[in-house]
Amino acid sequence: MDESNSGGVRDARRRRQRINRMKTTIVATIAIWMLVSMIVCVALTVKVVGLNHKINRILDYYEEQLKSSSVTMDDTDVSGKNEGNSEEVFAPGEPEEYDTDTKTQYTDAEGNRYVTGEQQKVYLTFDDGPSDNTDEILDVLAEYQVKATFFVVGKTDEHSKAMYRRIVEEGHTLALHSYSHKYSSIYQSLDAYKKDLTKLSDLLYDVTGVRPKYVRFPGGSSNRVSNVDMREFIKYVTDEGYKYFDWNVVSGDATNQAYTSEDLVDNVMSGIANYQTSIVLMHDATNKTSTVEALRTVIEQLQGMGVELLPIDDNTKEIHHMELNSEKN
Ligand code: ZN
Repeated sequence: MDESNSGGVRDARRRRQRINRMKTTIVATIAIWMLVSMIVCVALTVKVVGLNHKINRILDYYEEQLKSSSVTMDDTDVSGKNEGNSEEVFAPGEPEEYDTDTKTQYTDAEGNRYVTGEQQKVYLTFDDGPSDNTDEILDVLAEYQVKATFFVVGKTDEHSKAMYRRIVEEGHTLALHSYSHKYSSIYQSLDAYKKDLTKLSDLLYDVTGVRPKYVRFPGGSSNRVSNVDMREFIKYVTDEGYKYFDWNVVSGDATNQAYTSEDLVDNVMSGIANYQTSIVLMHDATNKTSTVEALRTVIEQLQGMGVELLPIDDNTKEIHHMELNSEKN
């Protein structure tokens, strides 16, 4: 009996030990699974975040491409345009987006073809400033006694205010582009656009005492970024008494491509060769230093050809990518 008793106790102890081992194994397995799951979760989260960033970058780039595709006049193909890389980081108050355009040639409406021997008119226009480059551009213009047009964005720092004043004081045309230059907000609704444009007009009036009369839509009047039919905006600005100006020659300084200043000069010169009146799109945003370099050469060549270089005024032929009565594109 004793033996069988002690045998029973041993069995029971072994069973307990076995059960304990099984418990330990199960707990350890669960713990390992939990740990592995957590690691996998963390790894997947990191991956998802990474992919999200990637998707956002691709979407930004795509949006840029779409924006730039909208600027042709009689040619509606969607060629990629991109003004600057979408990775650009803007300080508060900087334009979030730039108009982009890889096309350097426009086929203009009849009536504006260059006729040999006729006096050509060229309007140099600078978008997206003021910036650090604006001083230099104004210096070059002053040196050659050329007046130009600046479609500005809204900035309230002292330097920018000084630039708005200098543009006016030196006889250039100060014109409205957009206060925020954020396509996503201004083209959300007519109301949003009105507020943005009014804010810019008020700022420029406060700083310079001048109410600008001319408007350039970010991306041009035929941009395809706007959620609202662009003709609503065109109707609004014209009802308000503004004239809007697009362009028929681009320097190419808005593109992604690493154009040298020589390329920019070539683009402008080959563009204006087609027209009686050329409105040349350039930019005086911070990152457009090649524009400053190209400007001197462009002016010298144009003056050498006897071309008239003028600031936009009420007599300027209006170049429009879209009219109020255009077919919806
Ligand atoms: Zn712009």
